[in-house]
Amino acid sequence: MPKKGTRKVCDNGHTFYKSSDCPTCPTCEKLKEPASGFLGLLSNPARNTLLYYEINTIQKLAGYTEKEILAPQNPMKHAIILGIIGTVLSAVGAVVAADLGPVWYAWTLAVIAIPIAWLGGKLYEMKHAASGSEYIIKQ
Ligand SMILES: [Zn+2]
Repeated sequence: MPKKGTRKVCDNGHTFYKSSDCPTCPTCEKLKEPASGFLGLLSNPARNTLLYYEINTIQKLAGYTEKEILAPQNPMKHAIILGIIGTVLSAVGAVVAADLGPVWYAWTLAVIAIPIAWLGGKLYEMKHAASGSEYIIKQ
């Protein structure tokens, strides 16, 4: 079977084929994989992204919120989107499961989802503005 792409040889002498300009040697990358630890459970590019930001232990990863990892840019926009999702899911729950509890409770969840999400986004922005820290992923 013919190999696809351009034949390349890395500095360590491994021969590989790439159809793009990517110079990364798959054999060298495989050798760099940690044998243990949580990074050994991840594949690239997730592992290399964490290592780029010096997150190499589960303790360092635990120091970040889910939102800091997943929504680093424009946190308020992401908070409002989560609020909208919360409103829609709460409204669906209020209609579908109306007989499971008080009606006011289910509809209150739908009404406060966006303000609570906005408050969360605002607190996040204030926390990072006060500490001078930047979001984890910078561009
Ligand atoms: Zn190599």
